[in-house]
Amino acid sequence: MKTCRKVTRQPPTSSYLKASNLGHIPQQIVWNSQKRGVQATPVIAAYSSQECSVCHYTDRKNRPDQRTFRCQVCGFEAHADTNGSLNISRRIGDTQLRACKDRTAIKAVLMQRHEAWKQQQASEHNRPVKRRKRGTSSSSLTSL
Ligand SMILES: [Zn+2]
Repeated sequence: MKTCRKVTRQPPTSSYLKASNLGHIPQQIVWNSQKRGVQATPVIAAYSSQECSVCHYTDRKNRPDQRTFRCQVCGFEAHADTNGSLNISRRIGDTQLRACKDRTAIKAVLMQRHEAWKQQQASEHNRPVKRRKRGTSSSSLTSL
């Protein structure tokens, strides 16, 4: 679980952190943020490094190497940390992701968002284009 500044709730201790003997980390984050006068909040970090910050397509293949993010669908390319931090910052207060019970549910939500993005793209491309009225001047020219 990653944390971001300027947010409010206390981070819950995940079973992973307890199992990996890192269960003290959330308390340290709270203590450290209070000491520095900033607020800390938990953010669902699952798939944040694999999710495209533009179209939400989430796939391991979006990470050809450690530092590169390249979306397999929309072609967005950035430093992997830049893309991941964008995703993390947008997940603050994301109640839909927070309600997910496991990683499978989180990935399903992300792919739903990707589908919504695709539909939005399709509707923008299929939007009727205002056509210029065929000029009377050209028809009058042909009649000349
Ligand atoms: Zn993308």
